[in-house]
Amino acid sequence: MSVSTRSLEGTLAEIVGRERVSAEPRLLAAAAIDGHAPRWVVSPAALEQVAAVLALAHDEKLAVVARGSGSALDLGRPPVRLDAVLDMRGLTRIIEDHPDDLTVSVEAGITAGALAARLAARRQWLPVDPPAWQSRTIGGLVATNAHGPLRARYGTLRDLLLGVRFVAAGGVSTWGGSRVVKSVTGYDVPKLMVGSLGTLGVLTELTLRLHPMPESELTWLAAFPSTGAAQAFVARVLDSPLQPSRVELLNEAALRACAATPARAAVAVAIGSVEAAVRDQGALVEDFARRAGGGAAGAPAAFWERYDRAFTRSDGQMVLQVASLTSRLADTVDLIERGHDGLGSDAALMITGCAALGTLRVTLTLTGADLEAAAGFVERLRAFVGDFEGSVVIQSGPAVLRAGVDPWGAIDPAALTLMRALKDEFDPQRLLNPGRFVGGL
Ligand SMILES: Cc1cc2nc3c(=O)[nH]c(=O)nc-3n(C[C@H](O)[C@H](O)[C@H](O)COP(=O)(O)OP(=O)(O)OC[C@H]3O[C@@H](n4cnc5c(N)ncnc54)[C@H](O)[C@@H]3O)c2cc1C
Repeated sequence: MSVSTRSLEGTLAEIVGRERVSAEPRLLAAAAIDGHAPRWVVSPAALEQVAAVLALAHDEKLAVVARGSGSALDLGRPPVRLDAVLDMRGLTRIIEDHPDDLTVSVEAGITAGALAARLAARRQWLPVDPPAWQSRTIGGLVATNAHGPLRARYGTLRDLLLGVRFVAAGGVSTWGGSRVVKSVTGYDVPKLMVGSLGTLGVLTELTLRLHPMPESELTWLAAFPSTGAAQAFVARVLDSPLQPSRVELLNEAALRACAATPARAAVAVAIGSVEAAVRDQGALVEDFARRAGGGAAGAPAAFWERYDRAFTRSDGQMVLQVASLTSRLADTVDLIERGHDGLGSDAALMITGCAALGTLRVTLTLTGADLEAAAGFVERLRAFVGDFEGSVVIQSGPAVLRAGVDPWGAIDPAALTLMRALKDEFDPQRLLNPGRFVGGL
């Protein structure tokens, strides 16, 4: 039996406490996602409260979106409906800490910065560094499979997440991964949850694999007269005994944004190891850069902090995640630059990305560009990388653009059938982040 809005609010308040439910118009407007304002913002402080809120949502068919720091709420398609935003930032505890095993279990709302501060004291870290990583929640980072330059060596959260507790749409809390003998559903639940965008369950606890911090880390900036020369340098680095922790490509505008000496293209190579090995490997980086027709020198101090600031997204920007190939970097950058020329935008086009994997992050400002031209740009880029099974995801951009162009791109029908079956199993009533994921799931 459905209860009235007023008594629903009362029931929510009974679950989390009066001060943790808000229906204040200004707050609701600020919590809107792509123009959909929720009816309530609910801020649980414990797992049991998350479970009880989702059980109520299930009974009353309320659409719920979990929110971490709120930095990626425009990722994917606009939601089809929204009743409650579940603000997870009240769940910040470290639940279990095992320094000797290099693992830690945390609640989903803790920020990566707070966790890093805690781990730094014992020289361990969770090597995940997408722009603005410090302020993002671990739950949000996992839900979006966020990654940055450190992906070159440490992989993504798919490689670092050992176990997960989530609350499914009916309000039942489930463990999956290394802290259970057998997962309830029989799936590799942690892998399923990474990048699921809060559409399969609300993540509440995460068990993470940590790494020891290297004794020393230094970065070299290798500069080249063309992206082709940068690509040749990357091939050399990959085909060598070097073990870089970051191999990040930057075009001219991206370099400028990091206040580094201008060049047509550059590759920032970070080496983390014991001091002598770092020096030896750095000498090799300089040698490889010369042979590829460029030159390498030590990067300016605080290069990665500047990188982090420069690529923290601001309003009006469109960010694309392009999966290309290491062997096609120059072609892909060339196509993006030519496509951008046709957009009629004077604003800088910044291209960065993990050169070791061929994944590029394209940041552009859409002033002056009509949405049809922007959509055409995305489609041409998709057709190009599609020839070698690449992809283009619109990570952020205007809602009208994401409503007109599928932000995820085409998907294999067999994969979509599987995803639908999973959604039917985890969230049959389509209550969790409805419509945002691939295929409108
Ligand atoms: C394919 C892909 C590639 C990406 N690559 C990059 C990249 O290279 N670099 C980069 O900077 N960013 C990348 N992102 C985006 C990045 O992941 C997000 O910006 C960041 O992780 C958001 O963290 P947040 O704490 O701000 O989460 P929010 O913005 O608050 O939330 C993000 C999503 O996670 C859900 N969510 C949040 N908390 C929970 C929870 N506890 N349980 C369940 N769901 C939750 C939200 O509902 C929302 O859908 C990528 C995303 C995708 C999907």
